[in-house]
Amino acid sequence: LNNRFLEEQSLPAITLDGEHISLLLNAGLELNTQQNSAHICDGVGLYRTEAWFMQKGQFPSQQEQEKWYREVLSSYYPNPVVMRTLDIGGDKVLDYFNITEENPFLGWRGIRISLDHPELFLDQLKAMLKANIGLGNLKIMLPMISGTDEVEESLALYNQAYYELSETFPEQLIEKPDIGIMLEVPSSVFMLPEWSRKVDFCSVGSNDLTQYLLAVDRANARVADLFNPYHPAVLRVLNNIASECEHYELPFSLCGELGGDPEGAILLIAMGYRRLSMNLSSLNKVKWVLRRLNVSDMEQLLSECLAQPNAKQVLRLTRNFMIEHQ
Ligand code: PEP
Ligand code: MG
Repeated sequence: LNNRFLEEQSLPAITLDGEHISLLLNAGLELNTQQNSAHICDGVGLYRTEAWFMQKGQFPSQQEQEKWYREVLSSYYPNPVVMRTLDIGGDKVLDYFNITEENPFLGWRGIRISLDHPELFLDQLKAMLKANIGLGNLKIMLPMISGTDEVEESLALYNQAYYELSETFPEQLIEKPDIGIMLEVPSSVFMLPEWSRKVDFCSVGSNDLTQYLLAVDRANARVADLFNPYHPAVLRVLNNIASECEHYELPFSLCGELGGDPEGAILLIAMGYRRLSMNLSSLNKVKWVLRRLNVSDMEQLLSECLAQPNAKQVLRLTRNFMIEHQ
């Protein structure tokens, strides 16, 4: 079966009716294996910087970070790499940075830590901007944004990083890449009318968005059955995000695990998503499946799925659809 997927890995991800879908990679540490994969994807839609921080014994210096980021950017050049600023807290901890909380997923996580430690955030942003000199394929993304103050404070620090660097290195041409936010906290979904004017793009983190919409810990095996992104409520939210982003002309993508399931990818494409970021192991399979389908048929399927009472029914319909259409 895998061979069948491999045969088409270098072909573009185009549906039968001619819609081009950008398939991007979720990446973190595995640079060596990922390097060989640069030609089968359209770039990196989520680069999880914390994975590298987790291997260190202390916070890496700005110089060390710059070197690492440059290696990542070069590997995929000229395709874009969306680097996410440090997203620790929750289930991701650093041995050298103590966070003890009763409710880590609702606690000090992601952008909250970066804004409480602007020295770390500025270091990371400067390292990214410097790594991008002469390349220009960097985009920056902020995790766990829940309120307007966080957007504004982050942008202010981003400006500060940019101006300080430009002053320190007046002879260098430092670019100011697009900056975007993750949509993974339910409140963010309702702020798109305002935030679409402040940021350059957004990407849905369906893992956390599902966890917070359904109040189900994504890492707790006891409630794993309830953690289901095919819950009609989650699908309706994802559908609304696509409509809002289209309305406000904010470029959008999705980088949670859902986009790496063929069933999920089909429903997302029907909603209007044209950029999906996923693990390497999903990429060829998703490409193979969508090259055999029409978007118009997927849209028909979606309207039926959105009216289902539960995830089980949604998945039954979607799997039948896949069997019927290939
Ligand atoms: C997500 O929450 O969907 C996401 C892509 O980020 P992470 O899995 O790293 O939290
Ligand atoms: Mg997340």
